[in-house]
Amino acid sequence: MPFRRSILREAEQRELRLGDTVVAYTLKRSSARRSLALRVSEAGEVTVNAPLRMAWRHIEAFLAKHSDWLRQRLQAVRDEGSRWHEGMALPYLGQVRVLSLAPDALPCVFPLADRMIVGGSPEAVPQVVTEWYQAEAEPLLRERLALHVERIGQRMPRFRMTGATSRWGSLSPTGVLSLNWRLIKASLAEIDYVICHELAHVRVPNHSRAFWREVAALYPDFEPAKDQLRRNGALYFQF
Ligand SMILES: [Zn+2]
Repeated sequence: MPFRRSILREAEQRELRLGDTVVAYTLKRSSARRSLALRVSEAGEVTVNAPLRMAWRHIEAFLAKHSDWLRQRLQAVRDEGSRWHEGMALPYLGQVRVLSLAPDALPCVFPLADRMIVGGSPEAVPQVVTEWYQAEAEPLLRERLALHVERIGQRMPRFRMTGATSRWGSLSPTGVLSLNWRLIKASLAEIDYVICHELAHVRVPNHSRAFWREVAALYPDFEPAKDQLRRNGALYFQF
């Protein structure tokens, strides 16, 4: 039977000077490691993984070499955390609602005129808002799809709502029509364009000229909505 050495581990808290700020991090050494790694968690916790007996000067040089990257990552984590602030603009059906935080209220969204009042602790806000959008999106997207399908005389395809991070919709070879829940942030014109785009794929699977003629047949004058969606893409995909 082969001899198996147990893995030895050590962890210590250290500090690193980055310009005029001091960054606390955990140095984890392990006999199972052969190289150095630097990680920043979503909460901004910094960890350095190192081989068990690696000389300190190597670790120090590694940190110095990656200090710019570390500074950028920490800034990105801070930006992410401050994005969900009072007054943040939340797109909804082509209009802008203003986020209003209510930490003492139940963790729910209360739409009120042009405001979106969101209860619950600040950490829970992104999830509460996202789940609200998803719950709103499902029936609306299904309804718009059914409406277009009936209008053009197709059969209602199987519908699936997705959370894809870069595409608005798709039509699978087996005929499942997927739409991104983030479309609820867009105007009805943009939503209808995406639905007609996917329905056009029922007859033309590629993006050839024939395809765009089919889109125009299903949704005349689709160009402004298509442009609008492209311009607003980054905003809609923000969360
Ligand atoms: Zn397409």
